[in-house]
Amino acid sequence: MIGPKVVITDPTEIAPWVSDWRGRVHGSSPAMLAPSSTEEVVEIVRLAAEHRVPLVPQGGNTGMAAGATPPADGSAILLSMRRMNRIRSVSAENRLAVAEAGVILATLHDAAHEVGMRFPLTLGARGSCTIGGLTSTNAGGTQVLKFGTMRALVAGVEAVLPDGSVHDGLSGLKKDNRGYSLDQLLIGAEGTLGVVTAIALRLVPAIAAREVAWTGVEDPAKALELLRFLEARTSSIEGFELVPQDSLDLVLKHIPNSRSPLSGKHQWHALVEATTADPHVDIAAELERLLAAALQQGIISDAVLAANETQADAFWKLRDSISEAERAEGQTLAHDISVPVADMPAFILDAAAKVEAAFPGVIASGFGHLGDGNIHFHVRAGSHAAPDWYGSEGEKVTRMVDDLVTAAGGSISAEHGIGQLKRAEFARLAPPGRIHALRAIKHALDPLGIMNPGKLIP
Ligand SMILES: Cc1cc2nc3c(=O)[nH]c(=O)nc-3n(C[C@H](O)[C@H](O)[C@H](O)COP(=O)(O)OP(=O)(O)OC[C@H]3O[C@@H](n4cnc5c(N)ncnc54)[C@H](O)[C@@H]3O)c2cc1C
Repeated sequence: MIGPKVVITDPTEIAPWVSDWRGRVHGSSPAMLAPSSTEEVVEIVRLAAEHRVPLVPQGGNTGMAAGATPPADGSAILLSMRRMNRIRSVSAENRLAVAEAGVILATLHDAAHEVGMRFPLTLGARGSCTIGGLTSTNAGGTQVLKFGTMRALVAGVEAVLPDGSVHDGLSGLKKDNRGYSLDQLLIGAEGTLGVVTAIALRLVPAIAAREVAWTGVEDPAKALELLRFLEARTSSIEGFELVPQDSLDLVLKHIPNSRSPLSGKHQWHALVEATTADPHVDIAAELERLLAAALQQGIISDAVLAANETQADAFWKLRDSISEAERAEGQTLAHDISVPVADMPAFILDAAAKVEAAFPGVIASGFGHLGDGNIHFHVRAGSHAAPDWYGSEGEKVTRMVDDLVTAAGGSISAEHGIGQLKRAEFARLAPPGRIHALRAIKHALDPLGIMNPGKLIP
């Protein structure tokens, strides 16, 4: 029986969890259930199915698409997974960790570190987001270039399916060809196919050393050329982030104690991170040599290596502070999009020019994970915009951006998921075959529609 600790009905305890991270969507829930074991989740799901009560699974509530926000009419119950927070095992021999869904990403990082290993996925919300949420959104982050998204890092999933049965995929088999992969289906399902209760995760050897460099480049094409140049000569590159001068200027203006790494002005910048697990490799010397060659060949116009860890963190902070600086500057529309990597440099310039021409006064630019073909294409309102620009123009701007992305063969959601914020655009732009298949899978596994209704599936 689920005990009183599991059922929270005090509105003040529930209130912080019914709005999304960005505070744009506000929901309501008569109760919040907080199980601490898979057995309790089974019991909850069975009761929900019996009484036809929808459940909204929630981890750290840091998702960017309001997928964990319940509907405003109070018709669904929040299922907080944060009490399922045990790390069941960490094994350097197997290179695997098994973490329950509510384990915070930073906690997993520490646990892996203790056995000389590393869980290589990281992102800005690492202190709050959970492994269950990361799995359910197939999160990416800054090291995807080398290690892939959660899809590549999850070795197996334990989940309670909508009929209350338990799928146990935690053995972490490297080879298992028994047909469809339920594990992969649950990754990125945004809580619509079941409740993820535990995850087997791939570990890699801990880093012995890293070096971070900041480079100035003429345009995004040169930045991509730099990445390919480096990748052809070393396997140590694991972070590569594009930053336009205009974004850097905003960070320098709004974020205290920030300094430009390079003295001159450059239209574009690329932050490069190289790491090694081998203590005998001089990673700084290697990166310095390669950047000097890139400079000589005219691929970059300038570069500086971080002198120490503090400076390396300061370089990353410049990159990580862009969204915050933009918010401080004024109204900004964010689009997390991807197109084929080779097309991304031209796409950034072309899409920005088209959006700026169609909406005079706005400033459009892209920054982020160039090597993954994924950038955050942000459109800022400009200083003369009306105070309600976001509300009055936002939808039109986003439709244009999404049309450009779709025409380029890209995705309107690269790493943040569909949730409820992108559902209408997904319905408008996804090929009918894709939507039909999603609906068929959803109906087959959740015929009563109790798992996170109103999210992802158009
Ligand atoms: C500062 C900041 C930086 C970020 N940077 C990145 C980034 O670089 N890359 C990136 O990909 N994302 C990024 N994100 C988004 C976010 O951190 C990820 O989407 C993360 O995976 C969400 O985890 P969570 O535990 O907060 O999930 P929640 O927000 O609670 O939930 C997200 C979705 O997963 C479902 N869900 C959660 N737990 C479960 C479960 N146990 N079983 C079934 N379904 C579940 C929810 O229903 C919802 O649909 C960032 C967010 C912030 C705030």
